[in-house]
Amino acid sequence: MTQIYKSAWLATADSNNLWKIYYNAAMIVKDGSVVWIGEDKNIPTHDNCEIIDVGQSGILPGFIDCHTHLVFAGDRTDEFVKRQSGVSYSQIQKQGGGIFSTVASTREATEQDLLALSLQRIQSWIKQGVTSLEIKSGYGLDLETEKKILSVANKLSDLTGLTIHKTFLGAHVCPKEFKSSKEYLDYIIKTVLPDLIDSKLVDSVDAFCESIAFSAEELKPFLQQCKDMGLRCRLHADQLSDSGACELAANMNALSVDHIEYSNSKSISALKKSNSVAVLLPGAYYYLNEDKKPPIDLLRKHSIPIAIATDCNPGSSPIYSLCTIMNMSCVLFNLSVEEALLGITVNAAKALNLEKKGKLAPGFDADFAVWDIDNPASLVANINNWQCQQLYLRGKPYEF
Ligand SMILES: [Zn+2]
Repeated sequence: MTQIYKSAWLATADSNNLWKIYYNAAMIVKDGSVVWIGEDKNIPTHDNCEIIDVGQSGILPGFIDCHTHLVFAGDRTDEFVKRQSGVSYSQIQKQGGGIFSTVASTREATEQDLLALSLQRIQSWIKQGVTSLEIKSGYGLDLETEKKILSVANKLSDLTGLTIHKTFLGAHVCPKEFKSSKEYLDYIIKTVLPDLIDSKLVDSVDAFCESIAFSAEELKPFLQQCKDMGLRCRLHADQLSDSGACELAANMNALSVDHIEYSNSKSISALKKSNSVAVLLPGAYYYLNEDKKPPIDLLRKHSIPIAIATDCNPGSSPIYSLCTIMNMSCVLFNLSVEEALLGITVNAAKALNLEKKGKLAPGFDADFAVWDIDNPASLVANINNWQCQQLYLRGKPYEF
């Protein structure tokens, strides 16, 4: 069956990945894919179609959150209180809190507990028009718990119909039961990854390259081994210091290089030669009250695709709203409204290697949302409890 959607406006990236708004728009969808979009008056001849007119509302591609740690247990409100009394994020982690605190709670939780918590959490994304997202492991640091987290990610996809990219972040920090980072990274390569790959639970590999986690020297052979196992990587890079992570990721042709507040111009030049997406995470920058901004002008100068994401996690970015992140990326990092919208659509799709998602164009999946607003810029300009009117996953309406 073919459907024709008519709307007051439809906005998406065009064939050059520039933001474009069509007014009095129409979109033809067949078998879950977009066949045609344009102005209603130019619609090609067609027969036997269902016409769905959404009136004065507009249509946007399904949003994509390309960096989340959404599956976790526990609460770190106490750390917020500590930070407000002057203890830094790094100090808290060195005292056994931070990531280690969430690891302890997540190891303790059953798979059913984790699924219930995550299923409740993910409703915030769905209501804001998100149709694809990335979920990282990394709060287990042992085979059993890492597998539990990624299995929950799989179940979330089955239960909601959303497309979920599963990232293995075993190299988040070195757990205390290992004597050295090298010993732990060897355990991941020999024991954890083969099992997870066999269980089809890994789409890409991530690592935290930072003074409080792993060094670029430690990660270089590790990421090469992951590549040899057929996995593309992404990196938490240069968030708190310039650790050489961005350059390492670029040289590995990572899917994405995330954070990059401290990346230097040489690293950004290396990024230009790669096919990697720069993922900016203004939520963590805001929450940790950082003052070093990512090198946005250099990214623009080298035409490096910029995505933005929530980095949803219980410690440094407890934020469940991609619309709020768009606003933060504009106010804190000076992105334009169009850059923010491209950052959660077409560029976020590239960061997750989702070739048929992120825009509404012939051949792309009909993942989209209907919004009761006059202009997509409203979602960026106003921090609000946004909720889309309708959501479609490959042409099928989502039942809220
Ligand atoms: Zn993160």
